[in-house]
Amino acid sequence: RKVSRKKKGSANRKKAINRLGRTHLKISRQREEHAKRLARCVIRSNDLVAYEDLRVKNLVKNHCLAKSINDAGWYQFREWLEYFGQKFSRVTVAVHPAYTSQNCSDCGEVVKKSLSTRTHICKCGCQLDRDHNAARNILTRALGTVGHTGTLLNAWGDLSSTLPGSDLVEQDGSLIQESPLL
Ligand SMILES: [Zn+2]
Repeated sequence: RKVSRKKKGSANRKKAINRLGRTHLKISRQREEHAKRLARCVIRSNDLVAYEDLRVKNLVKNHCLAKSINDAGWYQFREWLEYFGQKFSRVTVAVHPAYTSQNCSDCGEVVKKSLSTRTHICKCGCQLDRDHNAARNILTRALGTVGHTGTLLNAWGDLSSTLPGSDLVEQDGSLIQESPLL
């Protein structure tokens, strides 16, 4: 706003543009620093860290979510996770993201829910926060993957790219393929 209030071509406008640029730079450095610190903390306090192999680029195509995803710096966070995973010899596993929020983490039943449904409630009596339920599914899948491939020490890094069918999922709001691992 300050920039647009200044006269075009004026020295003050240039100054304001410069100030704006520095503010953006500061914020992006803060974001990077936050991602790094959080990733380091998560890695140091766990032996294995599992997360969804999200196609950030596809998610960003969803305009409703794009801003918050870019803001959150998901991709940076994941990069730091994998970096610290190697550094501190922790296993990091990227799992196939299909149905992690729709499946019941207790009985495996599919419980359909939209993005706005924040609680997972299953017929089997399992009632969890949506993210808690998804986290349990992600962990189960990760442990299954590690056991399945037997590459515990090599499980970090590029495991995600070797997962069968990991390229099958479209994340533009429609998850069609079931994970072949399940
Ligand atoms: Zn259930």
